[in-house]
Amino acid sequence: MTKRIMVGNVPVGGGAPISIQSMCNTKTDDIDATVDQILRLEAAGCEIVRVAVPDMAAARAIDSIKSRIHIPLVADIHFDHRLALECAARGVDKIRINPGNIGDQEKVRQVVAACREKNLPIRIGVNSGSLEREVLEKHQRPTAEALAESALLNVRLLEQLDFDNVVVAIKSSDVFTTVRAYRLAAERLDCPFHLGVTEAGTPEMGMVKSAMGIGGLLCLGIGDTLRVSLTADPVEEVHAARDILRGLGLSKGPRFVSCPTCGRCHVDLFRIAREVEEQLKDCEKNIKIAVMGCAVNGPGEARDADIGLAGGKGEMLLFRKGEPLRKVPEAEAVAALVAEVEGL
Ligand code: SF4
Repeated sequence: MTKRIMVGNVPVGGGAPISIQSMCNTKTDDIDATVDQILRLEAAGCEIVRVAVPDMAAARAIDSIKSRIHIPLVADIHFDHRLALECAARGVDKIRINPGNIGDQEKVRQVVAACREKNLPIRIGVNSGSLEREVLEKHQRPTAEALAESALLNVRLLEQLDFDNVVVAIKSSDVFTTVRAYRLAAERLDCPFHLGVTEAGTPEMGMVKSAMGIGGLLCLGIGDTLRVSLTADPVEEVHAARDILRGLGLSKGPRFVSCPTCGRCHVDLFRIAREVEEQLKDCEKNIKIAVMGCAVNGPGEARDADIGLAGGKGEMLLFRKGEPLRKVPEAEAVAALVAEVEGL
């Protein structure tokens, strides 16, 4: 099991629930726009949010943003250690910076001292697009081995300063490379891991790549927090992250099972399944719901679920905890299922 760290009041690692992160795409020094976006992300279920800090104007906005939001705030910094010091002084909850990119040891020491004083974790964010020159020269390309080596190198730089309040991300836009790099690093490190497939793409392909990469790692028991990276409104990233966790049964909320339908189906299952999912999208019960087209696999899956529907001709059979309850007309099936879920 990984070590546990705290990002504000959100535990990460050590068996804590897997937290969902996203990143604003507003200009951070446009405080109103950034706060508006963070509030929308919060409403969607985002638990930790990151903002880019490319300059001092962004760093100086941190305290104003923080005073108006309710989830931990992370500052994303490259190269300039003074931005990290400013963000730490202004109450940020975590700093993403790679010590290997800051420059000399004294600058790293100053960032570590500021984070130690405020009990702030540092996220090391290894990315295939910004590997250290010497690592890239050694491996020629941003291979999984190169990414894992960069992660280790950065963790060791902080360990030399007796600092282990660390979370590590290792991201490539290639799914195989991402998975292999995390696996290599997880063999050597016990810090929590922040998962993601970087620059995954537009919502459709980005979701598929993220589900494969993040989902594959979670199936291997690797990963403590995640960000789905999409070329889209970041709220979509949060929905995608929720769906990945739900699909694996790793988050609050129902797991849905529904069949693809075939020539045996006599109900409008596409509509019924969509309506069930839509009406229960805010349900936080850890239950399994099955919506099946007919009596072949239908009753079996429906029985295995907490609440289930199996299609007949113009009617559906409603199940609860494996027991058939009653037949309901097709038009009333969704309402009947939702009422059973609410009664659980
Ligand atoms: Fe076809 Fe019935 Fe299977 Fe659905 S449950 S795919 S309708 S056989």
